[in-house]
Amino acid sequence: MTTAKDYIQQAFEAVKARNPHETEFLQAVEELFNTLEPVIEAHPEYITENILARVAEPERIISFRVPWTDKGGKVQVNRGYRVQFNSAVGPYKGGLRFHPTVNQSILKFLGFEQIFKNVLTGLPIGGGKGGSDFDPKGKTDAEIMRFCQSFMTELQKHIGPSLDVPAGDIGVGGREIGYMYGQYKRLRQFDAGVLTGKPLGFGGSLIRPEATGYGLVYFTDNMLQANGKSFKDQTVLISGSGNVAQFAVQKATELGAKVISVSDSNGYIIDETGIDFDLLCDIKNNRRARLTEYAAEKATATYHEGSVWNYEGKADIALPCATQNEIDGSAAARLVKNGVYCVAEGANMPSNLDAIHTYQENGVLYGLAKAANAGGVAVSALEMSQNSLRLSWTAEEVDNRLKDIMANIFNTAKETAEKYNLGKDYLAGANIAAFEQIADAMIAQGLV
Ligand code: NDP
Repeated sequence: MTTAKDYIQQAFEAVKARNPHETEFLQAVEELFNTLEPVIEAHPEYITENILARVAEPERIISFRVPWTDKGGKVQVNRGYRVQFNSAVGPYKGGLRFHPTVNQSILKFLGFEQIFKNVLTGLPIGGGKGGSDFDPKGKTDAEIMRFCQSFMTELQKHIGPSLDVPAGDIGVGGREIGYMYGQYKRLRQFDAGVLTGKPLGFGGSLIRPEATGYGLVYFTDNMLQANGKSFKDQTVLISGSGNVAQFAVQKATELGAKVISVSDSNGYIIDETGIDFDLLCDIKNNRRARLTEYAAEKATATYHEGSVWNYEGKADIALPCATQNEIDGSAAARLVKNGVYCVAEGANMPSNLDAIHTYQENGVLYGLAKAANAGGVAVSALEMSQNSLRLSWTAEEVDNRLKDIMANIFNTAKETAEKYNLGKDYLAGANIAAFEQIADAMIAQGLV
């Protein structure tokens, strides 16, 4: 009889053979599969149903040409994608990323993680992801609009409120969602539920912009409290300076922490007096400028080239909120050496497998992305509910629901880890709980 361990290994080898060049996707699959032995041992039917092979294959991948005209009148072409990964528990749901590094491997890793993240929220949403290798940096508003219109002209054939509901991600915020929604409406009809992260004036939800950053801090707070700690007086390192990072700065500061860093793809700021949330938002959102301006305007701040994870000063908590694989094994070892005892992920897969091992070997409290950053998609699902009901909840109501959802996700991870005698391994706890729900739903629906 095949053991759970052998089955997992064989299944992973098969995924590798089928997707040999998709390194990010394989990394995400390996991270999940590595934690599943106890649950597969407890459910031999997962082996006979070959559930690992099924869950690692997207239901559908759409890839398409996106032609658009730049400000000089020159025709440009980008590639657009939508990965519709898994609809076992609801319509595909997941963001759109516009960044020059976007390729099929990155969107498959993001779509794969999204399946499990979404089911952890307890809301009926499946997993998907999409985007383009378009680089929004330095483009005019009119160029962004033309690109978004062209992108949506194709994407609209494949999405719908009960089929697939995209949202934002890196490079896609309220402005881009607005342009895409406008184009969707011209081609189809008014249907607020087809995209989330919409501006407030036409179906957006209060607290959606804040949700991923706030949710990350709520999750981390639950994890800290369960271990006799809190944010109060803790020194926090945050990477990134976009949507997730900004609201993580704001909420962690509100809970009594001192956030001393933010970063972008060129460098990072250290501000020992605490990052000034209003100044940061003004620079990034109104001026759409670089972080060097923050250091130029705030006397207590210094700007440094390179990754914030090279920082050598003391800190207690790290919240990576920029991008995948920003923390490798040596950066993780540096964090541990400098006193960091808690890492929780606002970005998707910011820690590589070596970094995760380093956290585990050193007893670092680790909040994996699938659990810790689920607040964004959770409030997106609440936006869908409000659109269906044709009403808007107050900020307080949405925020309270978000707090409950993040507390539930933490408790699910903790209780599942305890059930399988895995101590404080919240990574395994969250992965197992999410996988079990997806596997059971898929099996109950027959061979899907
Ligand atoms: P934004 O586009 O608003 O911000 C991204 C930030 O990360 C910017 O500061 C950007 O710097 C930085 N960054 C991007 N690429 C790199 C890189 N290669 N190296 C270093 N820094 C980089 O995106 P979000 O804040 O929305 O997303 C950040 C992370 O959070 C992503 O991993 C995303 O998948 C994840 N996430 C987002 C959710 C959401 O609701 N928005 C939900 C769940 C997860 P620069 O300006 O120089 O590019």
